[in-house]
Amino acid sequence: MAGIAATPGYCAVCGREADGQFRRLGEAFCSEAHAVEFAREVRALAEGIGI
Ligand SMILES: [Zn+2]
Repeated sequence: MAGIAATPGYCAVCGREADGQFRRLGEAFCSEAHAVEFAREVRALAEGIGI
């Protein structure tokens, strides 16, 4: 689980502290905007490699 798996408690996009209020795909984020951005990137990546 290397790569996109971020340290719990920190935003997976920018690395700032996340209070757990915003979550997507098991990751924590500092804001809804970063949660949405991350989900969009993961979806694009998944479509790119055909899963
Ligand atoms: Zn962030």
